[in-house]
Amino acid sequence: MSVYEKIKEKIISSAGYVKTKVSEMASKVQKFLGDLYDEIVFTPDEDYERLEACEQERIESCLRAIAEVLGENPLNRLMSLSPQERALALCLIVEKTAEYMSIEIDNIILGDFEDINGYYSEANRAIALDIQRLIEEPMTESTAKGVLATVFHELRHAYQHNACKSPALYNMDRATARIWRTNFKNYISPSKNPRRYFNQPVEQDARDFALLVVDCFNS
Ligand SMILES: [Zn+2]
Repeated sequence: MSVYEKIKEKIISSAGYVKTKVSEMASKVQKFLGDLYDEIVFTPDEDYERLEACEQERIESCLRAIAEVLGENPLNRLMSLSPQERALALCLIVEKTAEYMSIEIDNIILGDFEDINGYYSEANRAIALDIQRLIEEPMTESTAKGVLATVFHELRHAYQHNACKSPALYNMDRATARIWRTNFKNYISPSKNPRRYFNQPVEQDARDFALLVVDCFNS
């Protein structure tokens, strides 16, 4: 082996050594920083397919709760109930779905909120639903669908809050959890700016999720 080849081999073997050391250091830094690491760099989720399957399971949890409370034809069933029975049915759906998705809901508030259909309060871990739509007589199919969509929209907000605190525990990809975390820190209320409220990531996601659930059934 010529001197030149010996030097070349040495450089190549040192490069491998340096590369290994750098990657060891990177994993130590990642371990040390924990969730904070994702605040600094976006990292790809290696188990993306498993996370997608978990999202599908969450949709199925909602459908299971609906079927258990309202049966095979949920819209017609909801429309045929008395206002009191409807309120009870929706509370039951919230409780069951929360249980299936491993999220804590301490309170369900039914109130007259005029121009909003409902909201989720992280401070009180409460889901609030507008009573006026609920007691509409006769209830139309579009209202029945809308009321159920609101329930799953607000439940999704509860899930988002949990998932952005512990993405691994709630099987959510870290990049999405990071976007939600940043969005909640800078949340735009509808009174501040209706268009930006509508377009922010947590609202888009809650609407999409609720639609995926309610579009699974028709009267
Ligand atoms: Zn919302």
